[in-house]
Amino acid sequence: MKMQTSKLKEELRTKIKGSVLVPEDSNYEEARQIWNAMIERRPAAIVQCAQADDVAPAIKLARLHGLPLSIRGGGHNIAGNALCDSGVTIDFSKMKKVRVDAAKKRAYVEPGALLVDFDEAVQAHGLATPVGINSTTGIAGLTLGGGFGWLTRKYGMTIDNLMSVEVITAEGKKIRASESENADLFWALRGGGGNFGVVTEFEFKLFPVGPEVVAGLIVFPFNEAKQVLTKYRQFVNTAPEDLNVWVVLRKAPPLPFLPESVHGKEVVVLPVFYSGAVSAAEKLIAPVRTFGTVLGEHVGAQPYTQWEKAFDPLLTPGARNYWKSHNFTELADGALNAIVEYAGKLPSPHCEIFVGLISGAANRIAPDAMAYAHRDAKFVMNVHGRWDEAKDDEKCIAWAREFFTASKPYASAGAYINFMTAEEGERVTSAYGNNYERLVHINKKYDSYNFFWFNQNIRP
Ligand SMILES: Cc1cc2nc3c(=O)[nH]c(=O)nc-3n(C[C@H](O)[C@H](O)[C@H](O)COP(=O)(O)OP(=O)(O)OC[C@H]3O[C@@H](n4cnc5c(N)ncnc54)[C@H](O)[C@@H]3O)c2cc1C
Repeated sequence: MKMQTSKLKEELRTKIKGSVLVPEDSNYEEARQIWNAMIERRPAAIVQCAQADDVAPAIKLARLHGLPLSIRGGGHNIAGNALCDSGVTIDFSKMKKVRVDAAKKRAYVEPGALLVDFDEAVQAHGLATPVGINSTTGIAGLTLGGGFGWLTRKYGMTIDNLMSVEVITAEGKKIRASESENADLFWALRGGGGNFGVVTEFEFKLFPVGPEVVAGLIVFPFNEAKQVLTKYRQFVNTAPEDLNVWVVLRKAPPLPFLPESVHGKEVVVLPVFYSGAVSAAEKLIAPVRTFGTVLGEHVGAQPYTQWEKAFDPLLTPGARNYWKSHNFTELADGALNAIVEYAGKLPSPHCEIFVGLISGAANRIAPDAMAYAHRDAKFVMNVHGRWDEAKDDEKCIAWAREFFTASKPYASAGAYINFMTAEEGERVTSAYGNNYERLVHINKKYDSYNFFWFNQNIRP
């Protein structure tokens, strides 16, 4: 490996503006860290691109030597496919620029930008588009898998607001894809992940949002969980799309607005978010407090960018994580029973069950309009196994798998590829439903040798 890595570095050095890190380099260890500490991979070379034109030489090098190639955006993906063992990793962590055209309500985003980079740049103009709920997630992987967050009820998935992309193909060619240019590729990239090429720029449509929104947490006791969830289910059926309410069941962190007696005990947390006029929020949020006995709450007007960071302290990198997820068109009684049962036996203080509400604009797009197929999904549940020590792997993974199985009868079809672990390759076909065949066809056209296989792979 030593010979090979130094040779790789030598071969690339003169061809790119960025840098190449190999295992002998002092900053290599830091560069191969990603969000999920369960992933332990050592690429032969990490190519830290400084410009889009650095990508083609990296692709050519990997092809020449028959090496696997992985692509790293924000490094958040649970499956850890940002890194490949003994291959070439294209690392965008030095390419984070976000250019905003406020007049046209457009943002042009480099593939290493994190949600914080994106949100802060667009909010400087009072604009936003739906992205995820954790500011350290990468815009690239999030978008290519679909992307949803607080604004999704109103403005759809992240891909519903993607206008065009710049892509480097397996042949190293730079092309653009949009509704009018390479439209088949654009269709595939909106949900099809990293299967078709390396995206070097994303163009997004933006909407006026905030800069102040009303958001926060309302917390209920766990022994009222079934009642709270039943009332929640009823409430969100008719709630306006400016309002979003998610569900988190976990052990209470030591939040100052909660009585000390519940710290570390199971609770039901309802994060609320309202992006309409601040003055209208209170009336709309008030019914949520009637779902049960409020243990504590922290809700108020705040900058949208601040709320986008609200969950960061619970989702820091470096912990061990194992996820399972289901889509739901409705939350049946059986699903609620399973949620309450498994939230009652959380195997670590950091494990949680998360239900994201995405009903609204995302459901008004046809399932074959782009690769992401599950336009009937109103809720996405993430079984978030999270813990610190390898000795707890078995029990935490077993909990997540058992709950996944117990809640499966109530789930709707498909899966969200952005929440799938490395071992869930067999779910890729169902993740695309009826769109899978078309994706295979498009992959044959743009990557006929399946060079971009290190991902949730669609096989040509
Ligand atoms: C703490 C946390 C919170 C999350 N919250 C949300 C949420 O609210 N909503 C939501 O929808 N998702 C959420 N996710 C899931 C998230 O969307 C995925 O993990 C996503 O893949 C992360 O993108 P990334 O760029 O950070 O990841 P990476 O691991 O860097 O990339 C993931 C994959 O995307 C592909 N890829 C990345 N960059 C490129 C590129 N430039 N060109 C081509 N392919 C590329 C590659 O196949 C890569 O393996 C969350 C994840 C975490 C860990």
